[in-house]
Amino acid sequence: MKREIKYNGKTIEYILERKRVKNINLRVKPDGTVYVSANNRVSKKYIDAFVLSKAKFILSAKKTFEENNKKAASAPLYSESEFVSFISGEFCRVYKLFLEYEINRPQLKLRKMKSRWGSCNYVKEVITLSTNLIYCTKEQISYVIVHEFAHLLVHNHSEDFYSIVSRFVPDYKRIRKEMNNIILR
Ligand SMILES: [Zn+2]
Repeated sequence: MKREIKYNGKTIEYILERKRVKNINLRVKPDGTVYVSANNRVSKKYIDAFVLSKAKFILSAKKTFEENNKKAASAPLYSESEFVSFISGEFCRVYKLFLEYEINRPQLKLRKMKSRWGSCNYVKEVITLSTNLIYCTKEQISYVIVHEFAHLLVHNHSEDFYSIVSRFVPDYKRIRKEMNNIILR
């Protein structure tokens, strides 16, 4: 049975199993699911209170598992020259795709950026890509380039924005999710 409690404005879901255990057991699985087993004599109210008393532990366990589940970027996937030539080729290809929107050719810059894969200065028409993309697959790099080109047209992440992105990268949601799981050290 699924139940939930509130803690500091956060909702903690847990699965309650009735078992012949002594009192109450609680465990957090590596996928983040919280299991509570309790015997039939223990009231739901008591169980909720018990889970609440463990809320801090639950949240920190979930966070630890989440971090562990992320894949660490280990080694570059390309040599530097391969990387630069792929990026410039892909930049040209995507520019041609966007020509139907009558954009000017933006300037491409590559630099170290820790917290993002790319950025677009639509006023100056400059697209900057992170050198950390060297850890990403070609599919992921293409997505980032399309994403930044789309910002020349739409400056936020609205539905309009993603409808342009999805024209060129239909599978962008999966790719974006995979990229969120790459940790850079
Ligand atoms: Zn963006």
